[in-house]
This record gives sequence, structure tokens and C-alpha cells, in this order.
Amino acid sequence: MTLRMLPAPAGSGIVFRRTDLDNFEIPANGRNVAKVSYATSLMRQGVLISTTEHLLSALIGMGIDNVIVEIDNLELPILDGSALPYVDAILSAGIRTQRRRRETIRVLRPVEVREGDKFIGVYPGDGYSIQYSIEFPAPIGRQSALIDLAAETYGAFIAPARTFGYKADEKKLRDMGLIRGAGPDNAIILGENGPENGPLRFADEYVRHKVLDLIGDLALAGRRIEGHVVAERAGHAMHTALVSRLLKDRSAWELAHVPVPSSAEPAAPENLAEKELAHPALQGV
Ligand SMILES: [Zn+2]
Repeated sequence: MTLRMLPAPAGSGIVFRRTDLDNFEIPANGRNVAKVSYATSLMRQGVLISTTEHLLSALIGMGIDNVIVEIDNLELPILDGSALPYVDAILSAGIRTQRRRRETIRVLRPVEVREGDKFIGVYPGDGYSIQYSIEFPAPIGRQSALIDLAAETYGAFIAPARTFGYKADEKKLRDMGLIRGAGPDNAIILGENGPENGPLRFADEYVRHKVLDLIGDLALAGRRIEGHVVAERAGHAMHTALVSRLLKDRSAWELAHVPVPSSAEPAAPENLAEKELAHPALQGV
């Protein structure tokens, strides 16, 4: 399969294009969220794109607002289970700052979703920051992470974090068709005593991967979020439930246009303008 990311005009957002289906386009927004369990999928007029979260995370994490993602398959490649290969492809293509001011969803009031002991909420705040806590059976236990995306930490601290699964669940998931391609090359496989396939990339790689997934799922709001997100034991279904609730509650957010700096100020700071790829990026699989 081939996945190609192409530069796109300001204001176009992130759009998937199925090259195997007459270039049918599916914009990455809340209207097209399909089903969500172990991965997030988009559907429009019966056409599906599945497992969108890692690529969307890489795009938002690297500050890309506008891009066309061409793919000749319904499922995005899992690669090494992280977003790092996408980040590398984006960096090798280059990032171009566009003339249009960046349009964000600025959170004005808290929006929360609670389900048993799972929780996720978004609150007013400068920039885009995420606080995530997880609690899983041993050997993971409890982990927490706080990341400020404006600090350009995504590529170094979030993108390399791989997805994970328990060896004990492997057969069950495979039988359900949920982890078709999962294996030691594209996921951390957890045994009773810890990872069975080599050392972790970070001691807290598990929670960092949850942050990675969250960034990708919240991309489905359609524009970059300006606010602070708090998640506790959440997952794809909770992430996308927050997107729906936020978009529905029109009093909870506004479309903000980051002001253009006056000529007296130094060169435009990174976050003020929309960005596209400078050249096509190819991810051959
Ligand atoms: Zn993931």
C-alpha cells in the first residue's frame, strides 16, 4: 500500500483521499467519525478510513493544519506502532508557513464526559496542553503525564511512544479480528513481568502513547484545540465522545483567529499561522 501526504491550501484542513476509490475524499472532522473501539475510524457515504489516530496525532503534533492524505487502502499502516515514522516523513518533506492566520477552537467553558471511573474534560487555557492518567493491571500500574504541545515537545517525547497490548489478551483480540497485524514489531507485547520484546523507549511509554492517541482523536474536532485537556483512564471512545459533546455545545467554544503580529514585532511566532507541507511526503509500505 502507499500513503502520500500532499501540501494543501490554507483553510482546507486535514482531508483523506482514497486513491483506490476515484479519489473519494473524507475530511477528518467530527461529522465523519464512524466506529471506535481499539482504533478510530472515519466514514462518509459508506466509505471507510480506519485507524486514523496515529497519523492525525503526528500532523497535529507537528503543527500541520492543512494536508491531503492519499491512501490506496481502507486502513492506515500501523508501522512501528508509534507516530515517529509519520513525523520523520513530515520533517523530510518540510513544513511551510502559510499566509492565513491559524483558526482554532478556543475553549470558553468546561466540557466533560464521565463514564464510571473513566473521565475526560476540556477547559479554557492558553495553547494546547494535555494531562493524562492511566491505571492498568501489572506490569503497567498507574502512570501520569503532562504535556504542553506549544513547547514543541511532540516529536521527541510523544511521537516515539508505541501502542501496547497484553499477551494474555492476544488470542482473544485476534479471534475478534481486532489486532490483525499486531506483533512484536509494531506493539509493546506485555507479559506478566513486563515487555517481552525489548526495552521500552520511555519508562512511561504507555501513558505517552495514550497522549499520542488523544491528540489524534481530538484532531477530529476539525481544527486545532486551544485549551487544557484532562483525561483519566480514557480511550478512543471517550476521546471521540468529548469531540462530539464539545462540537455540539456552541456556547463552550469559539472559532478564534490568532492575531497577526504587528510589523514592529519580530518574525511571526510559530503558532500564529497555518501550516502545510512544503513538499509531498511518501510513506511506502
Ligand atoms: Zn494508538
